[in-house]
Amino acid sequence: MAMAAPEGTHVLGQATLAELRGQMLGSVISPADPDYDSARQTWNHVTDRYPALVVCCSGAADVISAVGFARSEGLPVAVRGGGHSIAGLSACDGGVIVDLSQMTAVHVDQRRRRALAQGGATWRRFDRETQAHGLATPGGRVSSTGIGGFTLGGGIGHLLRKHGLACDNLLAAEMVTADGEQVRASTEENTDLFWALRGGGGNFGVVTAFELALHRVGPTVLGGVVYYPAAQAAQVLAGWRDATAGAPDELTTLVNLATAAPAPFLPRDMHGEKVAALVACWAGSQGDGEEAVRPLRTLGTPLADLIGPMPYLALQQLVDPLWGPGAANYFTSAFIDQLPDAAIQAFADAHQRSASLPASCELHIHQLGGAMARIPSGATAFSQRQPPYLVNCITRTPTADGFAASRAWARATRDAMARFGTGQMYVNFTSEADEDKTRACYPPQTHERLAAVKGRYDPANLFRFSQNIRPALGR
Ligand SMILES: Cc1cc2nc3c(=O)[nH]c(=O)nc-3n(C[C@H](O)[C@H](O)[C@H](O)COP(=O)(O)OP(=O)(O)OC[C@H]3O[C@@H](n4cnc5c(N)ncnc54)[C@H](O)[C@@H]3O)c2cc1C
Repeated sequence: MAMAAPEGTHVLGQATLAELRGQMLGSVISPADPDYDSARQTWNHVTDRYPALVVCCSGAADVISAVGFARSEGLPVAVRGGGHSIAGLSACDGGVIVDLSQMTAVHVDQRRRRALAQGGATWRRFDRETQAHGLATPGGRVSSTGIGGFTLGGGIGHLLRKHGLACDNLLAAEMVTADGEQVRASTEENTDLFWALRGGGGNFGVVTAFELALHRVGPTVLGGVVYYPAAQAAQVLAGWRDATAGAPDELTTLVNLATAAPAPFLPRDMHGEKVAALVACWAGSQGDGEEAVRPLRTLGTPLADLIGPMPYLALQQLVDPLWGPGAANYFTSAFIDQLPDAAIQAFADAHQRSASLPASCELHIHQLGGAMARIPSGATAFSQRQPPYLVNCITRTPTADGFAASRAWARATRDAMARFGTGQMYVNFTSEADEDKTRACYPPQTHERLAAVKGRYDPANLFRFSQNIRPALGR
């Protein structure tokens, strides 16, 4: 039995639904259907939305039907790729969810070193297909995230310094726009749209296929994690900052101040202890890599040193067990221009104040630069190319209990760190979708250009369940 949708949920007539169902190869799920409750769920349970319809598309033709149907019924559209939006943006109240979770095919063209992936593919699928040929594109650090939202927002992963952001590797996108047209965006066609898709999020339509550049990676890379005691966090952060200042592009790292989870790869006596974890990936020859990671192994007194040769696929899935669906999650971020000792101390102090298990609180500082920073800021809608670091403050509680307090801690830590930069946020690490926070994700001139593109491709704001750029009309 489906749970009754709350009063006020848009109810569509049976004849209208039958007409849509008649067109579709995929399924159309309404509040009256037994699978409505599972179909409306997304990964982050902090939001609970009741759409008028979930349309599970089998291909681009279904997407065209679903978008046309929503438009003719006057309903807004939420697009669901991998369903991991941290702001819960792939669900909506009263609108149509265009669900791409059946559209996961990935085709690899080895010779031309590119992959064509459907809009609902996850990194698990993408990496599996591409690694079969020793190829990869920069993808997510948790393999259940979708290539869709990840790439459209930018995409920061283990290969960032060597091969850039995921969106830097986007060669073309096939998409269905608000008027139901199927268009292609690339450096040759619809170039304004192509610029906007590389960082502007899910504002512009439904991407049914992503064409991504591939690079030789692995299948074995040098990577993993070194754990230090939390008491040494400030020393580890300062040592990491200095050791990585002139690091080669092959090395991408991040520091994670966290509580050691009861993960099988950690010694039992570490479980539940606060730790400073240094995560590294070397995407180059192994001999050079050993040399490059050596300073990272001696930043303090390691509790566990798990850096070693490992399949790239294993590195991509290393923390998957810690990030299952169903919990309440919050991310908030800040690009910062410097990491002085005062910032380090503030970060280490915030870690000491973080809640303990079963809440999971993590403070990340990502090392940026390398290939990502060599692309001019105006070349893509992802414009924050120059800051050397990105801070991400994360909290996750199994249920709503304790969530509000943990979220307040994350926000306060973010605000304390944002003083060391311009205050700009990363759209994919932002749990809010209000206008102020969305504006904080883009420099003003980028936001203005995005609004103009939005005005051309979605003037009625059909795709508003995104970090929404309001359409600028009449340009
Ligand atoms: C556990 C976890 C780990 C993460 N790790 C990283 C990381 O390492 N690096 C990083 O940069 N980010 C990371 N993120 C953030 C992640 O990039 C975003 O949450 C991203 O939006 C997820 O994409 P999705 O397709 O799964 O999400 P969805 O919820 O499906 O979509 C997110 C947004 O993108 C839109 N969208 C998705 N697919 C399409 C499509 N095909 N066409 C048009 N619009 C689409 C949606 O409408 C929505 O607005 C992580 C998030 C989680 C939850």
